[in-house]
Amino acid sequence: MRTVITVKDLAHLKARSSNEYVAPANAILTPSAADFLRHLGVSVRFDGAAATSQPPAKKPAGGGAYVSDASAVARPKAEHAKLFASKEAQAIKDQICSVGHRLWKREYVDGNGGNISFRIGENEVLCTPTLVSKGMLTPEDICLSDLDGNQLAGTKKRTSEILLHLEIMKANPKARACVHAHPPHATAYAITDACVPSCMIPEMEVLVGKVGRTPYETPGTKAFAETVLPVCKDHNAILLQNHGVITWADDLERAYWFMEIVDAYCRTVVIASHIGGQMTYMSPGKVGDLLKIKQTLGLPDARYNLKPADYCACEFRPGAVCGTTSQKSSTAADGEAETPEAEAVVQMVTDEVMRALAR
Ligand SMILES: [Zn+2]
Repeated sequence: MRTVITVKDLAHLKARSSNEYVAPANAILTPSAADFLRHLGVSVRFDGAAATSQPPAKKPAGGGAYVSDASAVARPKAEHAKLFASKEAQAIKDQICSVGHRLWKREYVDGNGGNISFRIGENEVLCTPTLVSKGMLTPEDICLSDLDGNQLAGTKKRTSEILLHLEIMKANPKARACVHAHPPHATAYAITDACVPSCMIPEMEVLVGKVGRTPYETPGTKAFAETVLPVCKDHNAILLQNHGVITWADDLERAYWFMEIVDAYCRTVVIASHIGGQMTYMSPGKVGDLLKIKQTLGLPDARYNLKPADYCACEFRPGAVCGTTSQKSSTAADGEAETPEAEAVVQMVTDEVMRALAR
């Protein structure tokens, strides 16, 4: 059995001047313990190993809290500080603030909701802090975390929802930037069992496509973070049940675009469903043309291996319905009236036409 080292086990180090902590060879450190050592400027050496060795981060068998073999701790603190203060990091911090301000202005976030991240190094991720409105973000607020969620730099505490972003980044190396928000129109779908219908607007099909979906879990937990794993490779926009939306891309601006596109699309579908006309859909053949374009752009889509007949199907849950009040494929329309009233109108117009022709 491995020894788990917590902050409590390290409390005595405060009074010490040593800059190295020697842990038992089989030990694992909790994230808080790793943070604690980092703040003290103390590096970790596992008994029998060199201090510079970087064993891979591991999850405990059977689940539970994230633990780390202190791969990040083994890296000199000064290196993190250098990266955090670099020109590249400054530019990304400015971009994170710009995205945050736009999310807030578009009312995609409220209170301190939403969070933004960017993977700046192999194991380092810049992210927004907890408890700060995205409308008020400044570059000084931004934090640096490792891929296990251990904070490496920054004066504010990193968002608790970074675990969600990190799961996407670890599972999908193409995901360098993540944007999470609670945009009202897309989130409205997330609090129903309706899926977001597809095959209605070309831009949505090419840039986003089918929106992924996760089951509900308590925000900020490991279980919540892991809900995205089954869908985060094939979907760059994911509805988080009873919560909001997360989008990812290879850069921040694109991850933000996808958030705009998803919410604008959901808003358009909701408005259209209130107009009362029959909703129309692109044919599977035309959607196939769009998917070919999409593939050349290197964007993910769960439909590349599907048959055309399945391109527009709702799929996130058995029994799910597409979220419009009137749904019928234009290619399948056969002229049948949908209600007795409409049928009567069609009959009346037909009779008038027949009478006029008979004169
Ligand atoms: Zn949230």
